[in-house]
Amino acid sequence: MDPLKALADAERKPYWLDTPARPEPLRRLIGQTSADLVVVGGGFSGLWTALMAKERDPSQDVVLLEGRRIGWAASGRNGGFCMATLTHGLANGLERWPEDIERLERMGVENLDEIEETLTRYGVDCSFERTGELVVATEPWQLDDLTGNMDLIQDLGLDYVPMDAEQVRAEVNSPTYLGGLWVRSGCAMVDPARLAWGLREVCLRLGVRIYERSPVRSLQDDGITIELRTPYGVARGAKVALGTGVFPPLLKRLKHFLVPVYDYALMTEPMSPAQLDEVGWGNRQGVGDSANQFHYYRLTDDNRILWGGYDAVYYNGGQLKAEYDQRDETFVKLAGHFYDTFPQLDGLRFTHRWGGVIDTCSRFSAFYGQAHGGRLAYAVGYTGMGVGATRFGANVMLDLLSGEQTERTSLAMVKDKPVPFPPEPVRSGVIQFTRWSIAQADLHEGRRNLWLRTLDRMGLGFDS
Ligand SMILES: Cc1cc2nc3c(=O)[nH]c(=O)nc-3n(C[C@H](O)[C@H](O)[C@H](O)COP(=O)(O)OP(=O)(O)OC[C@H]3O[C@@H](n4cnc5c(N)ncnc54)[C@H](O)[C@@H]3O)c2cc1C
Repeated sequence: MDPLKALADAERKPYWLDTPARPEPLRRLIGQTSADLVVVGGGFSGLWTALMAKERDPSQDVVLLEGRRIGWAASGRNGGFCMATLTHGLANGLERWPEDIERLERMGVENLDEIEETLTRYGVDCSFERTGELVVATEPWQLDDLTGNMDLIQDLGLDYVPMDAEQVRAEVNSPTYLGGLWVRSGCAMVDPARLAWGLREVCLRLGVRIYERSPVRSLQDDGITIELRTPYGVARGAKVALGTGVFPPLLKRLKHFLVPVYDYALMTEPMSPAQLDEVGWGNRQGVGDSANQFHYYRLTDDNRILWGGYDAVYYNGGQLKAEYDQRDETFVKLAGHFYDTFPQLDGLRFTHRWGGVIDTCSRFSAFYGQAHGGRLAYAVGYTGMGVGATRFGANVMLDLLSGEQTERTSLAMVKDKPVPFPPEPVRSGVIQFTRWSIAQADLHEGRRNLWLRTLDRMGLGFDS
């Protein structure tokens, strides 16, 4: 089908947020308030921090300040792959923290188990389905990479199932698949907006005071409390946790480590039973292909297909702009790739198209830290894999604020910082050249040019 026609009626907004189930906004902060802990940011990071702070000590007073609406940003507009990995995949973790990899993998699966347990305990309905992820090869050079670490995977006790072309096509029927790996232990599918709204509801039930439309404009420390100013109010916290994602950081030093990368997605109309029959997909896994520029896709409750990824766009200068949430060039490309992957779905149209910003850092996985004499903690830089890992990061922030030494705070991943990005305009030049090199690698059987090999050796990179 002509991609332009297929997109003609697609709404320009995130599918997940476009529902009457979206709760009414909570009131703004007006006037002064104080709390034992003030959390800034109402995405998964801030919500899990507030929720678990209350669980750790129900008597403490917790305030959450969100600049716009709960879950409006990355947390409410992502692919909904809730991954166990804390390191943006096993390969990245192994490369950077080989001595901790066993613990990191174990703690990642525990984190995913605890997410499931918490959602069940509080009755959060966000269509959490522990389907695993099917990683597929669509070019011969990708096949070796898929199964390269099988010995280690077995040693780590991870449930990964290698598949040949026939087996993987029996799961999801695309003529483009040459083989695959079903990462059974590592991933659940969720409706991300309903997850954010569910966590909001639990926070309120536990007594967290949430203020929406209350952007924190400044942060000042008088040595005892930290003062956060919003347009109409002031919140003073004995402790502060920042779950502010990619947005201009209240702690200036963080801006050297984060770049905003835009990622885009489409949603189809629901498939008919006959169309679903054509693709199979009985086990409802999330699917990702394994090029450097990869697609991710999945089913919804009503059997639509979310189809996203491929282009990871850095706009020179690193600004955040609402207009960047839409990129027709990318939508047309994505729609074309969709029909290449599922020719049998020719005629299926798209109902939504949207983009969102990813808090990218040079090590591809979150970094953590403290400031203001240990009374402020932050966790940012999830680089496109924060649906599950933000809960782990929230626990790290609470550990750091409590001053406790825990298994989490003993990890090199928690102690180290990523390499900073160079300042602009060098930053834009370096990132655009890296993006071009990545696209070239995909065109040339995965072969990485001298630039990418140098970055690899330095442990640096650019990803979504
Ligand atoms: C298109 C897309 C697809 C993705 N797909 C996946 C996926 O399938 N799986 C996965 O694991 N990850 C995915 N991600 C990444 C994932 O969504 C993020 O890692 C995760 O949501 C980060 O949560 P967060 O709370 O740190 O940030 P956010 O959700 O961005 O929340 C930060 C919040 O802080 C608020 N804030 C910032 N500054 C202030 C301030 N000064 N005052 C008050 N409030 C402030 C913002 O308004 C915002 O609501 C995707 C991201 C995008 C954009």
